[in-house]
Amino acid sequence: MLVPDPISILMVLERISSPDCEGGVILDGFPRNLKQAEALGKALAEQAKAIDKAVYILVSEGELLMRLSQRWICRNCQTPYHTINSPPKVWGKCDQCGGELYQRPDDTVDTVKKRLEVYFSETAPLIDYYAQAGKLLEVDGEGSVDEVGRRIVATLGEGEFIAR
Ligand SMILES: [Zn+2]
Repeated sequence: MLVPDPISILMVLERISSPDCEGGVILDGFPRNLKQAEALGKALAEQAKAIDKAVYILVSEGELLMRLSQRWICRNCQTPYHTINSPPKVWGKCDQCGGELYQRPDDTVDTVKKRLEVYFSETAPLIDYYAQAGKLLEVDGEGSVDEVGRRIVATLGEGEFIAR
């Protein structure tokens, strides 16, 4: 809801026309709704390009709430923390600079619930959209970042996963 569709579509198209995108790109967080997906598909077709695969990373609603509502950020140096996955050594204080940790308004339980509602009404229809186009790949999204990353690469069936 932050950026109007026509603007975000133009931004994406412009970016993926750059020479460094000739080998292909991975879009993360876009398209977010059917209108964007259709506009993107049309614009890509005009450049003789297309979406090859859509990766659906399946995570339960409870797990999503847990992941998203446990994020904290240092007010001073912006280092991110997570109550469960990467807690600070001293609660409420940044390991890097000692700054105060806070939750962005985006990351509180109430806002996360609203973000999930928007996801289910706006974004979830893309699952059927890409499934009907024969482009959907499903990946189990529960587990560590590395585990999920390996599953995605294995599902795509090529390349090599480089752990962070
Ligand atoms: Zn800090």
